[in-house]
Amino acid sequence: MTAPEFPAIPPRQRQGRIPPSLEPAFAAYVIQNYRRFLLAINFIAMAAYDAYALADALLIPDMARESLFLRSGLSLIGLLNIFLVFRFSRSVLLMDLLMPIHDIISTIAWFELLKRSASPDVPFFLYASVVFIVLGNLGVRYSFRGIALISGLISAIILYNVWTIHDGQARPVLTFTLVYLPVLAFSLFISWTNISGVRRAFLADLEGRQQRTELAALNLRLQEMATTDALTGVGNRRALDRQLGESWGGMRTNGRPFALLLADIDYFKPYNDHYGHQKGDQCLQQVATSLAGTLRDGQSSVFRYGGEEFVVLLQAGHADDLRCVAERLRERVVQLGIEHLHRPDELRYLTISLGAAMADETGLHEPHDLLARCDQRLYQAKQEGRNRVQLGGCATI
Ligand code: GH3
Ligand code: MG
Ligand code: MG
Repeated sequence: MTAPEFPAIPPRQRQGRIPPSLEPAFAAYVIQNYRRFLLAINFIAMAAYDAYALADALLIPDMARESLFLRSGLSLIGLLNIFLVFRFSRSVLLMDLLMPIHDIISTIAWFELLKRSASPDVPFFLYASVVFIVLGNLGVRYSFRGIALISGLISAIILYNVWTIHDGQARPVLTFTLVYLPVLAFSLFISWTNISGVRRAFLADLEGRQQRTELAALNLRLQEMATTDALTGVGNRRALDRQLGESWGGMRTNGRPFALLLADIDYFKPYNDHYGHQKGDQCLQQVATSLAGTLRDGQSSVFRYGGEEFVVLLQAGHADDLRCVAERLRERVVQLGIEHLHRPDELRYLTISLGAAMADETGLHEPHDLLARCDQRLYQAKQEGRNRVQLGGCATI
């Protein structure tokens, strides 16, 4: 099973709170999914800010030129900042808070215009300052703490300036504050909702990816289990059927022949009867390991065909190679030296017999024919005395 390439979600953190260990992943997620939004919101806010030059021209006409000058100058600086932050910085916090930071400067600059204007509309125009807090609060997607801090700063600047412009008169300042505070609370709440939504989406995305990885690993394991023999660990009958079909199809299309060997343990019934089934099982494991170990070259596969029979599928182009491999397999089982004192012949150790055939021999029309031919030859090998290989013609020992 491969290790997941993303950090695990601690179970108690699934309510939208990002634990410190997930912070880097969350920052990367915000950059990946919200960088374009944050970039766009900077331009939109800047366009809105510049458009207010018209309102300035109408309501504080004595400051129209200064307004145009100030807004153009700030926009140029803003554009440079946007370029630097979004082009070179990897800080998601800076991307998130760049617009609100610009907002602080814009608020200060605008109030300087209002304070210098002699227009009678100034007390009424003051109310337009709520735009600053709304714009700042609605544009963030990452840091609520950051925007809460900046909101406090903008609010302090606005209220201080309103108080200054009204020369500290309680009634107009109070009226402004009563209008301002609900807008502040409302926009902060929307800001918090937006950021929570991003956090929840991140956690859901992470969880989804973890589940998909776990599912893929489980699928792999299931596939392995479905094609592996539980006792011996070699391929099972299902795996054999599939690979035999594939090799047969490959031979048809590429003309590349292959070979099949059917191995059967000699006198295994008396072995089981005398040594017990547990010993018999161990024996099957040893034989399977020996067959697989002898052929560890990527050119062959071993399967348990059933009971004490194994099949070896071999990428052999010639019958001589096949004979050589079959002999090696037989010898290795002899070399295991597994005692078998209860066989009716003169041998005193465990042996196997093998029937083998090349897939391109005449008279074979489908995979089943190949298996049947190996089975016939195995039968011959048994008839001829066991512990031998039969490939057609004479058996060898
Ligand atoms: P031959 O040389 O002709 O093959 O004789 P044999 O005794 O090996 O042949 P037979 O087919 O009569 O016996 C096969 C035995 O294999 C029967 C059964 O006890 C044993 N066997 C089959 N599957 C298992 C298994 O999973 N575990 C164990 N311990 N024994 C098994
Ligand atoms: Mg058998
Ligand atoms: Mg047998």
